[in-house]
Amino acid sequence: MSDQQNNEPKMCELHSAGMMEQIDQRSNNPQFVCGKCRRKANRAEYLHNPLPLKKNGGDNFWG
Ligand SMILES: [Zn+2]
Repeated sequence: MSDQQNNEPKMCELHSAGMMEQIDQRSNNPQFVCGKCRRKANRAEYLHNPLPLKKNGGDNFWG
């Protein structure tokens, strides 16, 4: 169990496998978005093409 860092399943793979709980756990506080499939994740390792999510400090941007 010491060699898992490079072996994280990607969000897309979890989704195609129907592992919604795993997806929830990995995206409950998303910091990155996949430039390829637009999924969000807490960590860059979970995405194919991670891009940093920009956070707006309390603005009602999303309505
Ligand atoms: Zn992706």
